[in-house]
Amino acid sequence: MQNYLVRAVGKNDPVRIVAVTSTGIVEEARRRHGTSPVASAALGRTLTAGLMLATEMKGEDLLTIRILGDGPLGAIVVTADGKGRVRGYVQNPSVYLPSEKKGKLPVGTAVGKGMLYVSKDLGLKTPFVGSCELVSGEIAEDVAYYLYHSEQIPSALALGVLVETDEHIRSAGGIMVQVLGDADEETKEKLSQRFTSLQAISGMVDQGYKPEDIIKELKIDFEILDIYPVAFECRCTKQKVEETLVSLGVKELEDILAKEGQAEVRCHFCGENYIFTREELANLLKELKKTE
Ligand SMILES: [Zn+2]
Repeated sequence: MQNYLVRAVGKNDPVRIVAVTSTGIVEEARRRHGTSPVASAALGRTLTAGLMLATEMKGEDLLTIRILGDGPLGAIVVTADGKGRVRGYVQNPSVYLPSEKKGKLPVGTAVGKGMLYVSKDLGLKTPFVGSCELVSGEIAEDVAYYLYHSEQIPSALALGVLVETDEHIRSAGGIMVQVLGDADEETKEKLSQRFTSLQAISGMVDQGYKPEDIIKELKIDFEILDIYPVAFECRCTKQKVEETLVSLGVKELEDILAKEGQAEVRCHFCGENYIFTREELANLLKELKKTE
């Protein structure tokens, strides 16, 4: 089934809700990067969070989440836009760690301690950048803490990725609930209770819950604002890779041509390999020399 995202608001409660199913996206990331189960879970949760945070982004504007922990996974980087396109990678995708609790992947340990950065490229000269320390490395808590600490939005997030024993992704999804400024204490308490009593998101998606079914579990009246499909999609093109090669300069390109005979460039975000043949490289050099 196609993965999609639902954006909603409470009819009687001042609350904003986003829910998304992301099984196909996390499986695509696993296939492209060869992620181990714990890496799939960490990257999958971050991809899912990226989609939910990016709902406020317009057009081609890009939101980037960087999780820089000191655990074995290394950096996790995800970018997403408001049209449901997301991509991302984890620095060390083949990390295997023993489970600390039965049936639970040790994401917090694999991520470690460190910082979370969110930047929003709104087409202005300098992007907006916010950051906070990682709370647990479990991603959902970290992103919720970031939203509260850095953007002053009280938020609750749940993210889930269920990995099969053969390492395929069985289910993935997320929900984010944000209380708006004018909510009273009683409402906050009610929402917080309903949120904490939700069953695991990955379990719900596995049982066939759609995003709006997950929202229904909060047991409040809501109105859907937006529904759109989401997908793993990268912005890389051979043209962009060519620009990167050209930016290396004449000397570097001549070295590559002499030593390798061709250039092979892999996109970090999606794992796509771009090959530039001897002839293509020679042509690039010729063009470059003309302009220098
Ligand atoms: Zn790419």
